[in-house]
Amino acid sequence: AKRRGRSQCQAFSQEMAQRVARHHELEQALETAIDRNQFWLAYQPQYDVATGKVVALEALLRWQHPVWGSVGPDQFIPIAESSGLIVPIGAWVMRRACEEIGQVRAVLGEPELRIAINVSPHQLIHEDFLASLNDTLRECEADPRLIELEITETSLMDSVEDVLPILTQLRERGVSIAIDDFGTGFSSLSYLIRFPVQRLKIDRVFINEIEQADSQATVVSAIIAMAHKLGLEVLAEGVETERQHHWLQRQKCDQAQGFLLGRPMSCADLIDSLQIQRNL
Ligand code: C2E
Ligand code: CA
Ligand code: CA
Ligand code: CA
Repeated sequence: AKRRGRSQCQAFSQEMAQRVARHHELEQALETAIDRNQFWLAYQPQYDVATGKVVALEALLRWQHPVWGSVGPDQFIPIAESSGLIVPIGAWVMRRACEEIGQVRAVLGEPELRIAINVSPHQLIHEDFLASLNDTLRECEADPRLIELEITETSLMDSVEDVLPILTQLRERGVSIAIDDFGTGFSSLSYLIRFPVQRLKIDRVFINEIEQADSQATVVSAIIAMAHKLGLEVLAEGVETERQHHWLQRQKCDQAQGFLLGRPMSCADLIDSLQIQRNL
């Protein structure tokens, strides 16, 4: 038993060593990814549930590595966060998204189309964040009222004192704030409305279960009703079936996003697909 214990221990430390090496390798590659043009943005449409119109696009970061191929954000965003690289990467996302949404608006003749951008807490509380955002807005001649920042519920909870003054300043600039992955952080709505937020994005794990579990459906409809009473809009993430969509319509959910309605796509593909939808 003792010997087995030791070899398990060796296997464990070997695995640890591999993980550390992999982490280091990814971090080094991330450092040069912007300069080597390895990032691009995919856009996923957000629809108004009542009218069926596209009201916003969420920018989702993609990393195409020459050897590893496509590396998912769930793999590299945590490394970008822990290394601080999320600051330049986040600034790149902001700029590229503002440039491309300008093109989409022009081509589609939809001057009011919003852009939703994911922001990590580390990036948000960095001292240069507001100045860098202002530079981008000015250079892209972008209207701050058409920009929404998505901040996860858990990151808000983790750093309230640091985040609140920044959100307040963003709000004064006209930028809107959405709470991402809502429902996974177990915070109460009465607590969250102390933040200047306009929208809740209900996490897809809840939307997934509304057909299977009555109790989940009850939770989601209660969230929608309560959010509306508090003056917030609600977006459902991860809508994959017609039944889910119809149910959300009946509950008067404001917006929906998910594979049923539109997958994340490159800017060019998205323009094509929206033009086709419009001409149907
Ligand atoms: P998120 O912000 O919650 O983004 C939604 C994720 O769900 C995306 O995964 C999207 O492709 C996926 N999704 C959308 N509709 C459906 C659906 O109907 N079914 C299912 N199963 N999935 C759906 P993705 O693109 O892999 O992004 C993962 C996470 O990485 C994002 O979660 C976000 O937290 C983070 N992320 C992506 N881009 C950025 C970025 O520019 N900055 C930061 N800080 N984080 C980012
Ligand atoms: Ca998001
Ligand atoms: Ca989300
Ligand atoms: Ca998420």
